[in-house]
Amino acid sequence: MSLIEFRTEGIYIPRADVFIDPWKRVKKALITHGHSDHSRWGHHSYLCTHQSKPIIRHRLGNINIQSVAFGEEVNINGVKFTFFPAGHIVGSAQIKVEYKGEIWVISGDYKIENDGISGLFEPVKCHRFVTECTFGLPIYSWVPQESIFNQINKWWQHNQENETTTLLTGYTLGKAQRLLAGVDSSIGPIYVHGAIENMNAVIKSCGVQLPDTIHLTPDVPKSDLAKALVLAPSGSTGTGWMRQFKEVSIGNASGWMQLRGARRRGGADRGFALSDHADWEGLNWAVKQTGAERVYVTHGYTDIFCRWLQSEGFNAEVVKTQYEGELSEESNMSSEVDD
Ligand SMILES: [Zn+2]
Ligand SMILES: [Zn+2]
Repeated sequence: MSLIEFRTEGIYIPRADVFIDPWKRVKKALITHGHSDHSRWGHHSYLCTHQSKPIIRHRLGNINIQSVAFGEEVNINGVKFTFFPAGHIVGSAQIKVEYKGEIWVISGDYKIENDGISGLFEPVKCHRFVTECTFGLPIYSWVPQESIFNQINKWWQHNQENETTTLLTGYTLGKAQRLLAGVDSSIGPIYVHGAIENMNAVIKSCGVQLPDTIHLTPDVPKSDLAKALVLAPSGSTGTGWMRQFKEVSIGNASGWMQLRGARRRGGADRGFALSDHADWEGLNWAVKQTGAERVYVTHGYTDIFCRWLQSEGFNAEVVKTQYEGELSEESNMSSEVDD
């Protein structure tokens, strides 16, 4: 019996009768992180990290959910499971699965750069590594976040001089908190869209420190917003919600902004290539760090990344899953955007 099987419901561990990030309803689901393509509604029970628990509860309501600390070993029918930091969003984990000396690691989504709130990606030695590759093309090469945040701060200050509101968009879970943690909050007031306000409250309850923000409600006078930074989900820019701004400059923070044209299509004035996923170099680094001889590629530019790994001498294959990339995470969050 293989320790792990790729089934139509998700990644399955037969000996323990549990799934990791399943996309169909199952009895017991171990969850890497709170994004909607990895933690879906309808499972009988959930197991995740302590920090992911309030996030998943916030998204899915009153579910049967238990949590563990990073590094804490859980034994299910003799199979040992341990959650390690994935550095992707608050609470995100890779899951190590071990049975009689055989070790697999399921990465979920991950990024290498330390954003200060999501934990530091920790390479885990294993025989088989199951990896995402959302940005698995050589053109995706992130510049250090310090440089991106300098650009954002300068843009905000420039807008202030022109009495123009700075509206920065990014997805509600993960990107919004990373932006908050990274911008220079001494520049001016920071307002947030209701969906982000709610998510921030949950994230703060996990013990994560974020700068003070003001909930942007219809009774905030337009004049108060001239020097402000406003954080909102990307989906909000095409809606009536925009009427509350006089002069506004729109920026979007996403890995896709690395590509010319993506910004224009998104209707933004500025694009900031800031991603919560590993870039090409990061993916390659992570795979090598695990020491795995077999690599399974789950979502993103799977065919290209898999062929590249094969040419590098890895025994690599593409696995069909229902995980989605950064853009889809945004659209999946849109139900929370309307609130
Ligand atoms: Zn994710
Ligand atoms: Zn994902």
